[in-house]
Amino acid sequence: MHAPTQDAPSTLENSDEENPFEAMMQRFDMAAELLHLDPNLYKILRHPEKQITVSIPVMMDNGDLEVFTGYRVLYNTSRGPAKGGIRYDLQVTLDEVTALAAWMTWKCAVVDIPFGGAKGGVICDPFKLSKGELERLTRRYTASIIETLGPESDVPAPDVNTNEQVMAWIMDTYSMHHRHTTTAVVTGKPIAIGGSRGRREATGRGVMISVREALRELGMPLHGTRVAVQGFGNVGSVAARLLEREGLTVVAISDKTGGVYNPHGIYIDEALGWVAEHRFLEGFPGGEPITNEELLELDVDVLVPAALENVITRKNAGNIRARVIAEGANGPTTAGADAILEENGVFVVPDILANAGGVTVSYFEWVQNREGYYWTEEVVNQRLHDVMIRSFADVLQYAKTHGVNMRTAAYMLSIDRVAAVHRLRGVYA
Ligand code: GLU
Repeated sequence: MHAPTQDAPSTLENSDEENPFEAMMQRFDMAAELLHLDPNLYKILRHPEKQITVSIPVMMDNGDLEVFTGYRVLYNTSRGPAKGGIRYDLQVTLDEVTALAAWMTWKCAVVDIPFGGAKGGVICDPFKLSKGELERLTRRYTASIIETLGPESDVPAPDVNTNEQVMAWIMDTYSMHHRHTTTAVVTGKPIAIGGSRGRREATGRGVMISVREALRELGMPLHGTRVAVQGFGNVGSVAARLLEREGLTVVAISDKTGGVYNPHGIYIDEALGWVAEHRFLEGFPGGEPITNEELLELDVDVLVPAALENVITRKNAGNIRARVIAEGANGPTTAGADAILEENGVFVVPDILANAGGVTVSYFEWVQNREGYYWTEEVVNQRLHDVMIRSFADVLQYAKTHGVNMRTAAYMLSIDRVAAVHRLRGVYA
């Protein structure tokens, strides 16, 4: 349940396909070896800086008290304030939150924004909580981790099952404690209280740009290219809509209730309308029902896993027929699956690059909050576009120069950037 304390490198043989920290560490080890990373830096970067566990008492609507467990992990803050979302989910573990915090560290370095990496999580089923319970949970969790939070130290954002409203409660709770409104303590806020235009769509927009760049690299057209998107939340639904707008044919979508498949294309606006009314895709008449597992193995050109971790594993990687995978989710592919995908010539745009659009616009939001001056949506989208295009080109160039795949290149590039900062700053003793 906790991050390993030993420094022995993990190997693919002893991998635990279910453990996201292992999945992260295996890629880290491989990249560190290829980089000939200084052994002392290797030791530092293998460990999270800080792991906080809190018990969160919440008075439920029925008068009972329940105690939830929450985490906030700061993996590395050498490049700037810790940055990363907070998720509410029953599957949350300290191991998972630590892996996600490490991924945030590499992600911020890949797109070269001045942040370290963090993540938070509360073990709960938010779908079973009333709005009042959710608010009390959020405020007490915020108060419990308040020492770490701050525009210069640790800046949360939305993640799985959290949204703008949750961010507004975090901002308000922090501001009440500090006796003044502090917008830059959290990103992904509603626009009325300092959120950035374009933030909600930013992750999906970044995924779309990644797909476009990958297709260009492979000499594949946009028009008529078939794509399957797993996950229809903030990332998957926006990516699907923007890819459709680019001329691709979205033949399959899914959420936790299952998926739909239509070889002629699904109208994403219709699917969005259905979900707005019925909450989930279940029953959506735009295609034939399929399972989430079947979606991954469809005969498509592009696959966008934009739901949760560990969906592409050693077991199903060999059955994937897509030529391109753009990872909208964090950690959807296990380390064991990487080699199989590579052998089969699948071009993978890794999570720390493909879904970095969200944190990039979070950075823009933080900058706007600190400036007190707000940008138009066109400016936000143009700057996001520039960051994604430059980062994709950096990783591709790195991959070609070092003869490695895009994932290994993204890890190498980001670890190199974090290590360079550590070398300059030295070890405080
Ligand atoms: N939760 C998002 C991610 O995994 C966004 C994090 C942020 O904006 O800080 O990248």
